[in-house]
Amino acid sequence: MAEVSTFYSVNEAKRPASERRYHDNDKCGPGSEIKLEDRQVGTNGYDRSKDCQKLD
Ligand SMILES: [Zn+2]
Repeated sequence: MAEVSTFYSVNEAKRPASERRYHDNDKCGPGSEIKLEDRQVGTNGYDRSKDCQKLD
């Protein structure tokens, strides 16, 4: 597994607070769909995405 920094999409802010997620795996489907220009480093206090958890 490639080590990647935690990241989240600037567009998460448009979702309900309970659905906002961050990612930390470059194999994560939803995470990889986030455009590079929309990515922000860190978690922003969000929960880890379910797909990233499965990839552990
Ligand atoms: Zn993810």
